[in-house]
Amino acid sequence: MQTMGQQQKRRSWAEPYKIKMVEPLKMTSRPEREKAIAEAGYNTFLLRSDDVYIDLLTDSGTSAMSDRQWAGLMMGDEAYAGSRNFYDLEEKVRQYYGYRFMVPTHQGRGAEHLISKALISDGDFIPGNMYFTTTRLHQELAGGTFVDVIIDEAHDPQNSHPFKGNVDLAKVAALIDRVGADKIPYLSIAGTVNMAGGQPVSMANVRELRTLLNRHGIKLYLDATRMIENAYFIKEREEGYQDRTIAEILLEFCNYTDGAWMSAKKDHLVNIGGWLAVNDEAVFQKISNLVVIYEGLHTYGGMAGRDMQALAIGITEAVQYDHIRARVEQVRYLGNLLLDWSIPIVRPIGSHAIFLDALAIYSHLPQEVFPAQSLAAELYVDSGIRAMERGIVSAGRDAQTGAHRLPKLELVRLTIPRRVYTQSHMDVVAEAVKEVYDKRKEATGLKMVYEPEYLRFFQARFERL
Ligand SMILES: *Cc1c(COP(=O)(O)O)cnc(C)c1O
Repeated sequence: MQTMGQQQKRRSWAEPYKIKMVEPLKMTSRPEREKAIAEAGYNTFLLRSDDVYIDLLTDSGTSAMSDRQWAGLMMGDEAYAGSRNFYDLEEKVRQYYGYRFMVPTHQGRGAEHLISKALISDGDFIPGNMYFTTTRLHQELAGGTFVDVIIDEAHDPQNSHPFKGNVDLAKVAALIDRVGADKIPYLSIAGTVNMAGGQPVSMANVRELRTLLNRHGIKLYLDATRMIENAYFIKEREEGYQDRTIAEILLEFCNYTDGAWMSAKKDHLVNIGGWLAVNDEAVFQKISNLVVIYEGLHTYGGMAGRDMQALAIGITEAVQYDHIRARVEQVRYLGNLLLDWSIPIVRPIGSHAIFLDALAIYSHLPQEVFPAQSLAAELYVDSGIRAMERGIVSAGRDAQTGAHRLPKLELVRLTIPRRVYTQSHMDVVAEAVKEVYDKRKEATGLKMVYEPEYLRFFQARFERL
């Protein structure tokens, strides 16, 4: 029980913005949703967004832009070459991330394609702190083999390590011993590891990693997509960083790396865009040559001038403490509601999403009948809330043996778009998850009836068992 004194001390936080324009939501009936999900092959990626009530499929490109960013759209300089918006963007990337050279790309995977092609040769190994779907695929397509070097704690959804995204230096050293440093062009490190549940990397870890790699002449490249969220956790949890700004932490972290790729659709509060930035001039020459083949001229890289402007402004908003705090705390608010009801989720609560532990919730279902895929479908049928699978379907098949990869984590991701939904929406989501959780014993699982060759989770189709 709270005493009066504690109640008087209570201080709520609120979103650091007010609403100027609204987008009405569509409500559907349960029979309509049953029909929609069957037509979508029980894959939430194949639903029409018009049939969705609260869309937590992804936080990628789904952010609400600010009035300043919309104003930026009107400042588009659509010159083919040398657009003023490019120079604005370049300046912001230099200022906040510290890299010397930058090429824009249409989105994150465009940048991953370029860096993988520029640096990886056939037979190389690329260690990383847990895979990300598109990152690993581009490394493999370039002839490389991805090796997971994240700490073991990251694979345990109940382990509450504060920096579950950390690299295990012993695993890196063992890989160097096994294949030789000349077979490892770079280590790819992601800030807040999406697939581990949005878990951060500590500054101490990246610093030690840099030292180890320097001894062997191995480069370090950063997936900076969610690095601002990572900086928030460093400020919150790491000794010595409480009084540092988000921008200072971001810059210090990047300083330990040789370059970064970015999906601006995440941290940077835009609907489309990305970039690749490096310090090494020879690498820059390679990527600016590749960008004209695959993306567009090196001063637009697949983006309209206006989009580069919205992105440049988004960077300056994304590093504001009030913004990033509200972003992470909203996710935590939802997670804490679920924990209050003892619903199994990945802990600690990450920065961008709540991950339901489908193996624990559907403990009666084997992984081969796709528990997380089923749970996402049931949640949609119950309430019109769209989530996504992050488990056996997303993990795909082993490139050598062709067998399903069986990830230890079988999760449903409820991803919160930035600045889009309110705390009341979070209440509704929590209640819907509770409803599905209470009916968990009725679930029977799915069978896959169509499987695409690449990134199968996007387009695979299922039927109820
Ligand atoms: C989204 C994402 C990517 C890929 O970016 P796209 O813009 O979707 O192509 C790469 N890495 C991480 C960590 C991501 O979250």
